[in-house]
Amino acid sequence: AEKTKESLFILTEFAKKFYTNQLHDTEEGQMIGLSYFKERGFSNEIIKKFELGYSLNKWDAFAEFAEQKGYSKELLQTSGLVTYKEDGKRFDKFRERVIFPIYSFSGRAIGFGGRILRNDAKAAKYLNSSENEIYFKSKTLYGLFQSKQAILKQNECFLVEGYTDVLSMHQSGIENVVASSGTALTKDQIRIIKRLTSNITVMYDGDAAGIRASFRGIDLILEQELNVKVLLFPDGEDPDSFARKHSASEISDYIKENSTDFIKFKAKLLLDEAKNDPVKKTELIREIIQSIALIPSLIQRELYVMETATIMDIREEVLFKYLAQILNKGE
Ligand code: ATP
Ligand code: MN
Ligand code: MN
Ligand code: MN
Repeated sequence: AEKTKESLFILTEFAKKFYTNQLHDTEEGQMIGLSYFKERGFSNEIIKKFELGYSLNKWDAFAEFAEQKGYSKELLQTSGLVTYKEDGKRFDKFRERVIFPIYSFSGRAIGFGGRILRNDAKAAKYLNSSENEIYFKSKTLYGLFQSKQAILKQNECFLVEGYTDVLSMHQSGIENVVASSGTALTKDQIRIIKRLTSNITVMYDGDAAGIRASFRGIDLILEQELNVKVLLFPDGEDPDSFARKHSASEISDYIKENSTDFIKFKAKLLLDEAKNDPVKKTELIREIIQSIALIPSLIQRELYVMETATIMDIREEVLFKYLAQILNKGE
């Protein structure tokens, strides 16, 4: 198994170089892939730093080259980068897509994300490497390798949804940012962040899916004894689209002014409709106290209950009683 792992690392590194070469050194790569990145506003520096690539519009460009270089069909199949059919036909996983290499903590390529360029409602917009002995989706954070120094230095980690969000933030000089990349945030991903900082700001897309994912993420992060803040982007914006429309300093200001703790975030989203409706308001308070109940630290729970009491205009005693009820039930 160790041997397979090492071979997969070597093959994935080889594939990474292949895809970057296709982007820079083929006509199709330049005309289609590189101009796509340019049109989206990505700088040469970012394209280099994240080693972005391109896969040709061909069934087996990678398979052919890798086989020629002596990689075995078995290893290529195991990696998931090539599929061999029983009739002997082979096809590449990534075709006619721009490629985002995914790195391990120490900077080795372990897999890829590929984005489609055409408008094709039937095809997935993003395709990820299949899992193998070196790539586990639930334990991977996109951008971690490029962002870990800044996360340590700022003692804070910005959590975004997608590849391009990480790229655009880096391009704007905000380098303490990682993406959960499509999977719902996992415990393992939070544990990885926890090794670097205890402060996470969730910056998911400003759409219904993003808000739902934020709610789930908040509870997971609280359970792991981390401090969580939330930042919502204007309707329909994600960090990438927002960053493209604003200067670096405007982005920093927006983050500073609009990051809120999770209670204010939930309250802000739900209080407007709940204000004059005791039933809804009760539901909202329950929801917040249930999140607070997930926090392991007694002191932190206490502080959050006090804050909730103020925001919700309700006596602390009542909230503490309800919290105690939830905590007892959980045992
Ligand atoms: P873009 O700006 O290029 O359209 P995005 O990052 O804004 O991309 P979203 O639709 O917001 O795309 O999705 C967020 C992330 O979820 C993506 O970056 C990708 O990692 C993942 N994702 C999106 N769609 C899919 C899919 N069909 N299959 C797998 N992962 C996906
Ligand atoms: Mn989205
Ligand atoms: Mn998005
Ligand atoms: Mn986007």
